Amino acid sequence: MPICQICARKITLTLDGMIRPHGYRQNDVVNNIGGRVGGCPGAGYPPYEVSRDRILDKIRLAEDELLKFQQDPPKDWRPRAINEWIEAVTKDIKWLNERYTQSN
Ligand SMILES: [Zn+2]
Repeated sequence: MPICQICARKITLTLDGMIRPHGYRQNDVVNNIGGRVGGCPGAGYPPYEVSRDRILDKIRLAEDELLKFQQDPPKDWRPRAINEWIEAVTKDIKWLNERYTQSN
């Protein structure tokens, strides 16, 4: 079965060969950056076997978002929450980079 570029789950395709809409993984911060709320941003894009462009999009979006967040963290967040967000996004960027550069 085709694999989603972003969440790596097996998802069926639409008639035009794109990944069908499906939910995002809970606690996955990066999936909520540049995507529809409540839906995996890999939906509507070709599967992993065909393209990895969506992964690159997400890496760039997440890196931008991380930089902005670090430069100007939300005033009403506790330092611990800010650190957790940074850690989660850093981890997800690493995971996306690994997927993007994987040889198979
Ligand atoms: Zn997905």
